[in-house]
Amino acid sequence: MKAPPEWLSSFLADLPSAVALFDRGLRYIAANGPWLDVFGIDGAALRGRHHHDLDPRSGPVIAELLRRALDGEIVEACEIGEPDPANRSRRFVLSARRRRATDTADGIIAAVHEVALEGAVPGLREVSDQLTGLAGRHRFMAHVRSVLVPRDPWRPTAVFLLDIDNFKGVNDLYGAGIGDGVLKIIANRLLAGTRSRPLPADQPGRSAAERSADMVARLGADEFGIALGNPAPTLADAEAFARRLLQLVANPVMIGTECIRLSASIGYIVTSPTHRNEDDALRDLDVALQEAKARGPNNAKAWEPSLTSTVGRRLALLDQLRRALDEREFVLHYQPILRLSDGKVVGAEALLRWNHPSDGLVPPAAFLPVLEESGLIVPVGCWVIREAIRQMQVWQMLYGRDILEWISINASARQFNDPSLLMATLNGVKDSGFPLDRIKIEITESAVMRNPEITRQVLSELQDIGIRLAIDDFGTGYSALGVLRHYAVDTIKIDRGFTNRLDTSDGKELVLALLKIARIYGADVVAEGVETVAQAETLRAAGCGYVQGYLYAKPMDGSFFGAYALTHLVENSAAE
Ligand code: C2E
Ligand code: MG
Ligand code: MG
Repeated sequence: MKAPPEWLSSFLADLPSAVALFDRGLRYIAANGPWLDVFGIDGAALRGRHHHDLDPRSGPVIAELLRRALDGEIVEACEIGEPDPANRSRRFVLSARRRRATDTADGIIAAVHEVALEGAVPGLREVSDQLTGLAGRHRFMAHVRSVLVPRDPWRPTAVFLLDIDNFKGVNDLYGAGIGDGVLKIIANRLLAGTRSRPLPADQPGRSAAERSADMVARLGADEFGIALGNPAPTLADAEAFARRLLQLVANPVMIGTECIRLSASIGYIVTSPTHRNEDDALRDLDVALQEAKARGPNNAKAWEPSLTSTVGRRLALLDQLRRALDEREFVLHYQPILRLSDGKVVGAEALLRWNHPSDGLVPPAAFLPVLEESGLIVPVGCWVIREAIRQMQVWQMLYGRDILEWISINASARQFNDPSLLMATLNGVKDSGFPLDRIKIEITESAVMRNPEITRQVLSELQDIGIRLAIDDFGTGYSALGVLRHYAVDTIKIDRGFTNRLDTSDGKELVLALLKIARIYGADVVAEGVETVAQAETLRAAGCGYVQGYLYAKPMDGSFFGAYALTHLVENSAAE
């Protein structure tokens, strides 16, 4: 192998940060002193070797990082290394990029951006955020104030509030050290992405300093503020920029050898004279951000007047929902699930209702989104589990027998991002003597796909304690097969949208295909939303195991359901 040219080695040696070059076979071409120090490797026998031969500990991470870079992915990684002699663990933030060159330096360039000691006291910097080095809240507010100073002519500025979706999940799963590293990566991307954005056509009369006065600040744990120094951006400019910010966050981050994908929500404004001060601006930004979050992850929303009332209404609803939980206004209804082979009621799905003091029973569609986006679904979801199990135990006591084999309980992705309460609740259920294998947790396919890594960990924890798993609304997401391949799924639930198209030939073919897929993976199938005898017959002929739908029964309250299921049991045993 040819030695790297002299200029390259001395160039690398002059760089203050840790940098290495690898060839396309992922072997070292060269590395500088700081890089060797970070990994504690000897520079003498470096060239032509793989990293894992020199440092097996960080080998898999570096190999994965390089492999992805070679595939053209822009990857960054956060990794916790061996503790230092004082037993403080070391955190690395690394990145790698493919570079094409005609000389011996063709391959990948990798750099370590940061080595931080966990528990070490970072140097205090006045107005900057200590973790990321970005401006802090104080400086950001001062900046926004300065752009709002009345001038003639008025020059608007675009200001963005960016919040990482479900960042708590990253901290919970990987620890705060990794969480910090990931924030650092995001901060660097935002900074680089903002500075490198193309400037609009030069405007006479503005100094270079004014033009480049962009600001990226960290305002809270996982909240960033960005103000563009661009002269007079339009709403369309701001929208395009917001999309770009979303993309910057969406690029994958490696943690160990795992690749996670984050998303963000963004609220933004183009300032106008109605913003009298920074508080006005921030209030509108907050409203826009809340609306973006309400639309689900990876959304950006500009403030507009109508939003303030929408968000106001949503906040009022959230208030009522908090009260509803305290005042025990939530109730569960139960819908039977029947086995097609013998027509027996074998399970039930617990479905949440809000017994509103004046409006009566409110269906979940009216309030579930607010529960989810506010995180209130976490305690409510735990209440649902406890209540459903309490009901199972009440039936058992009343009738002296188990009227159901299992109870199906819906869970939302949000509960998985914060799994401690969920796991504690289930352990409480177990301690009460209720066997966990009589619980099926239903999670929608799209929720699984939204955050596959986090979900996978929680799903396997659930399976470890014996919980059975059902994929809800199966076939409506975009990765039906992936879900089944990666998770040991007990049951799939075919969405009502498929069931009610069973009378069309393509609808029927689709259901047959879903049944076949389930069979391959050994999963039971419940067809949801069965409303006609014809649908039930087609499903039976196709080998579908279980059905649920208005043809059999609508969801009903606990006492009604108990009587219904018991009658069913009695009728069935009379028929036998
Ligand atoms: P899902 O889990 O897919 O539940 C089935 C929904 O279809 C229920 O609506 C049920 O009443 C309805 N349904 C059942 N059979 C038929 C039928 O034959 N025809 C028609 N038109 N509809 C039928 P519901 O109770 O309004 O619940 C809606 C969704 O709300 C549920 O969809 C579930 O995703 C969510 N949900 C309900 N309870 C909870 C809960 O406790 N936690 C969470 N996270 N989500 C819940
Ligand atoms: Mg369900
Ligand atoms: Mg469903």
